[in-house]
Amino acid sequence: MQTPRLEIRNLVRRFEGRRVVDDVSLTIQPGHVTCLLGPSGCGKSTTLRMIAGVDMQDEGEIHVDGTLICDTVFRIPPERRQIGLMFQDFALFPHLSVGDNVAFGLKGSKAEKRKRAGELLERVGLSHYIDEFPHQLSGGEQQRVALARALAPRPKIMLMDEPFSGLDNRLRDGIRDETLALLKEEGASVLLVTHEPEEAMRMADEIALMRDGRIVQRGAPYNIYNNPADKAAVAFFSDIN
Ligand code: ADP
Ligand code: MG
Repeated sequence: MQTPRLEIRNLVRRFEGRRVVDDVSLTIQPGHVTCLLGPSGCGKSTTLRMIAGVDMQDEGEIHVDGTLICDTVFRIPPERRQIGLMFQDFALFPHLSVGDNVAFGLKGSKAEKRKRAGELLERVGLSHYIDEFPHQLSGGEQQRVALARALAPRPKIMLMDEPFSGLDNRLRDGIRDETLALLKEEGASVLLVTHEPEEAMRMADEIALMRDGRIVQRGAPYNIYNNPADKAAVAFFSDIN
C-alpha cells in the first residue's frame, strides 16, 4: 500500500466538554478525492480546521506523506503545511487583478508567477480576464478563479469546505464536474467536505460518512450507497433522486 498523502489518527476536539470531533481517523491517497460527508453540525469543518492548522486538536495526530505535522505537543504552522484551502465564501482580493489573485501565493519571478497564473486561468477558460478585477466576473467565474488560486502553488493537499454551496443549483453540477476534472488533471489530493450525498457520489473516490463527531462508514461511493451501515445512513442517502 502507498503511503497516504494525508493520515489523521484518532483526532479529538472538545468544546465545552463535548467531543465535537470524537476519535476520527481518516486517510487520503495521493491523487484521490475523499469526501467527508455528513449532516450539518456533525464536526466536518472542525476536522478540516485542525488539518489546516487553524485549530488545534485535544488528542490525535496528523501526518502528511508519512511525516508527523501535528500532535498535541508538536505543531507545524499553517503556512508551512503546503495545504490549499477553499471555502464557501471564497473571497477574492477585490483590489487585485484576476491574474494577481491567482499568483498571490506563488514564489518566483514576476514572469514565472504570471505564467503559472495564465496557465491555470487558461485551464478554467478565463485567461481573457487576467487583467480584469473580480467584481467584473460572475459568481461562477469567481469560483473558478478561486479554484485556480488554490491550486496555483501546487499544494500537497486541497481542503474544500462546502465550496459549491453558495452557487445556484443551475450552475452547480457543471462547476462540480469542471472542478473535479481540474483537480484530477493537477493530480491534487483532496478532502472535500459536504452535507450533500449527491455531491459526494459525484466527486468522491472514497466517502467517509460522519455523524455526531464520528466516522460511521468509509468506502467507495457505490459501496456506501448500496450498503449503508445503518438506518440513519439509509435515511441520509434517501434524499438523492
Ligand atoms: P459541520 O461543519 O459538520 O456543520 P462544525 O464542525 O462546524 O460542523 O461544528 C460541529 C459542532 O461543534 C457544532 O455543534 C458547533 O456548534 C460546534 N462548534 C464548532 N466550533 C465551535 C467553537 N469554536 N466553540 C464551541 N462550539 C463549536
Ligand atoms: Mg461546516
